[in-house]
Amino acid sequence: MKRTFSRPIKRVVVKLGSSQIADSRFKPKLGQLSALAKQVKALRRRGIGVTFVSSGAIVLGMGLLEENKRPTDLATLQARAAIGQAALMRLWGEVLKKVGLKCAQVLLSWDDFDDRVRFLNARHTMEAILKEGVVPIINENDTTSTEEIKFGDNDKLSALVASLIHADLLVILSDVKGVYDQDETVLEGEYKEITPLIQTVSAGTANIQVARGGMKTKIEAVKIATHAGTPCVITDGSIKDVLVRLVDKERIGTCFIEKKDQLLDVDSEHEFIRSHFKNS
Ligand code: GLU
Repeated sequence: MKRTFSRPIKRVVVKLGSSQIADSRFKPKLGQLSALAKQVKALRRRGIGVTFVSSGAIVLGMGLLEENKRPTDLATLQARAAIGQAALMRLWGEVLKKVGLKCAQVLLSWDDFDDRVRFLNARHTMEAILKEGVVPIINENDTTSTEEIKFGDNDKLSALVASLIHADLLVILSDVKGVYDQDETVLEGEYKEITPLIQTVSAGTANIQVARGGMKTKIEAVKIATHAGTPCVITDGSIKDVLVRLVDKERIGTCFIEKKDQLLDVDSEHEFIRSHFKNS
């Protein structure tokens, strides 16, 4: 049986955790990124635009410096992000060029969502990039901002971006197939609420070298995105043709249905976003 979405999917935000970008030796997963670039091209042919929220700057920076262990102090991590961000964009540039596409680097931080003028500037810039048919590659601006380094590997940022650009679907890709229940079975249904079971099984936070964030911050992201009117799927980025198959409504991963579509004016939207990053 296929999934149903309440509106046609024209705009997708895809969040890639660090584990999707680099392997356990902190080297780029070129095959994985090339496969995603090909899928972006396939979706483009069908009139669907993809925006990536891509982590990976810190791990690539560590790889460039030939480190084998994640540093612990924040300034050192921020430096790794600054070193790796250029490599991250080069990678995206290469794989997208092979399928005839271009990319744009967009670095955001919480302050950009907090301040109304900056929020609107970010929205207008994103609209202009998407209008050009260029693929935005968004990351947190790790030089000045440390929220995602400390907590979430861009999970929450991806939900804020989905609401910033009114995405029709948010796909959170990592190395797990979805939300697992207590028997280690993937919950492949469509969920209207974060059930007590989901809340319990997602309580842990991963704290290993490459994969960051864990299910807890993903569920936080789901709450924001679905309240802002965007359905959300959590699944494994290495599944073959995962983006194309999701848009084709295949039941892959755990899907969370958006709350009743609210046509908010821009001020209520901005207030909603501000309240979510302040309170969660
Ligand atoms: N924005 C960071 C990055 O792209 C977050 C990930 C992390 O904390 O490792 O590397």
